[in-house]
Amino acid sequence: MSSERPYLSFSRLSRFEDCPKSYELHYLVREAAEESDPLRFGSLLHGVLEDVYRRAKGSAGEFRLTEALVTEVFTREWPKSGLIGQEHFTDGLRILHDYARQHALVDGSAVLGIEQEFRLRIGDREVRGFIDRVDRLSDEAIEVVDYKTNRVIFTREEVDSSLQLSIYHMAARELFPWAKEIRLTFYLLRHGIRLVTKRSDEETALAREYILALARQMDEAKAFPPRLGPHCPSCDHRGSCPAYHRALLGRFEVVASDPTDLDAVARERERVARLAKILYARKDELERILKARLKDVDILELAGVAYSFTNTTQVDYPRAPTVAAIAEFAGQSQEEVERQILVVDKKRVDDLVRALGKQAEPAKVRLLKARLDHVAEKAYVPRFNAREVRR
Ligand code: SF4
Repeated sequence: MSSERPYLSFSRLSRFEDCPKSYELHYLVREAAEESDPLRFGSLLHGVLEDVYRRAKGSAGEFRLTEALVTEVFTREWPKSGLIGQEHFTDGLRILHDYARQHALVDGSAVLGIEQEFRLRIGDREVRGFIDRVDRLSDEAIEVVDYKTNRVIFTREEVDSSLQLSIYHMAARELFPWAKEIRLTFYLLRHGIRLVTKRSDEETALAREYILALARQMDEAKAFPPRLGPHCPSCDHRGSCPAYHRALLGRFEVVASDPTDLDAVARERERVARLAKILYARKDELERILKARLKDVDILELAGVAYSFTNTTQVDYPRAPTVAAIAEFAGQSQEEVERQILVVDKKRVDDLVRALGKQAEPAKVRLLKARLDHVAEKAYVPRFNAREVRR
């Protein structure tokens, strides 16, 4: 192991924060990383957006970001992604088509940086990294954009306290010193949502102190214990992690035998929740293999279980016409409706219509439902079934 202190990066810092064992395997032992599908998927979408924004930046005037263009780049990049399965392919194209519809015209001259490299001095350490995109908003303001492919939407607190965005703020301050305002955005590609925040001088100073303290902790660490958690299923060292393997085997110790000991109940609840996430992610991995085989046969009978697909109907509500119909019905602005349902999916639309319908005339509610039914996009989606075979 070299005695020279390595440069820091957000990945390095966050890996140590999430799990010291993963940090040790990755950066100290330098074990080869085993990419997970979520990481591959994220890299693929980042690559496609990088490509189209480079074209936009290189073009004169407004650039048309079309569904055809993202399809072309996506299908070209797909074979290199290492991903297998129609599920990922369809999912990726859907996300990119939604993105293209929402950003149909790009002002290439406003794109200041793509995969913008930075090297930032913090105390006696250097922090390096790349920012997905930096845009000029005005002569005094810029926006730093980081794409995310998470399924779960970050909370306001997570965005406001994100170490990654604090680092990007400091980097952008150095790279674009003319910018008086720096807007920091996590763009959640799956949901088409921008989560925007800023950093004050005080918050930036605190982030600097924290980075230096974390760096010292990393330098001085003598032990690197595993920290099981929701990040494990996508950990690129899970293959050689004994704690993860024990979790998959379901080895588990009951600590809350006394229901009046609420502290023990809470601790065990958290452990069970973490294990459940890990086991569900493994189940998904195994199902993907079986689903791939079901492309060639109608039914697979293995180990006393019959696997097959059946068709179910999936209803999707396109955001703009759905929000417009509900807003008109409720006599609210579209912004108010957006705030209430943040993500436009069937459950949220049904819940909102049910709640609003309680105070409205039945004929009006029927009209709204008919209008929503008209804009809804219906698709037949294959559902995976596993059924025990009785002999
Ligand atoms: S699988 Fe989980 S516990 Fe093991 S190294 Fe990875 S993150 Fe840490």
